Formats: sequence, structure tokens, C-alpha cells
Amino acid sequence: MGDPGEIDAAVRLLVELARTDRIDGIGCRASLAELADRHGPAGEGGPVHERSRWPRWFGYGNLQLEVCRCRVVEMMVVPVWHGQVLDHPAEGVGLSLLRPVLTAAGYTEPPTPKLRSQLLLDRESGGIRTSFVFGATADGFENGPLLDDPELVKVVSHAWHTCP
Ligand SMILES: [Zn+2]
Repeated sequence: MGDPGEIDAAVRLLVELARTDRIDGIGCRASLAELADRHGPAGEGGPVHERSRWPRWFGYGNLQLEVCRCRVVEMMVVPVWHGQVLDHPAEGVGLSLLRPVLTAAGYTEPPTPKLRSQLLLDRESGGIRTSFVFGATADGFENGPLLDDPELVKVVSHAWHTCP
């Protein structure tokens, strides 16, 4: 656990993400140039598919971006499990803390969850689907004991986009 101020900083970013589909300005439909202006150049990973140059992975810290050949973010993954939100510790950020924010921003649970071990709250807004994914079992397994307060594992945001 980080100190409470740091956790507050992480939660503030998650609230921004829930409301705007962006975290510290980073998100779907942002261009690499726009992000570089604000945060410096993104770290570059490899191509997403072995045989084509684009889309490619980029990132800031543990935040992963899939960027299409228009140099625009089409998917963002924010892993949180035992980790950080950008540089802020966010261990133990639970559903009870985030549910009011997510509900107010229009997130809903799918009527028929696919997995018992995973709880999902998502919304679609302006062609961007953002999902907050919580781990619902203590050991991550389907048959494991259910947690009282599911823990945020990751946030995935995806934009509908076809390169011209
Ligand atoms: Zn494109």
C-alpha cells in the first residue's frame, strides 16, 4: 500500500478516466504527436500482429496503447492489479470505492456475466467503449472464494476506427 495521498492521486486519475475515457489526457483518439507534446515521446513496443508494421504498441509506464497507422490511439489498457496507475500506487482500489463514480458516469454491468471471477462495468460513449474490470474471486480462479469488495484489475478502452 502506498501512502493515502498517492492513492488519492490514483483514484483521481481513475475518476477522470471513468468520466472522459482519458487518463491524464491519454486515451483513444489521441494522436501520438498530441501525447508527445504533453508527456514526452511514448515508449515504443513492437507491432501488434507479427506480419504487419501497424498497429503497434506504445506506452507510458505500465499503460499500454495500441496505435494504428494514422498514429492515433485505438486501444488503451491500464493495468492496475497490484500495480500503479501511471506513477501512483493503486493497490486495493475496490468496487465499493468506484461504483458510485462509474454508475453516475453511465457504466452498467452486462446482464449475463461471462465469468464468475470477473466483474465488469462498462459503457459506450461517442464510439469509445471503456470497461473497468474487477477481480471477483480471492485467487483469480473461477471456483475461488468471492471477495467482499472486488478489486480493480485493469481498465480497457477501445475506439471504433477504420484507417482510411
Ligand atoms: Zn487509423
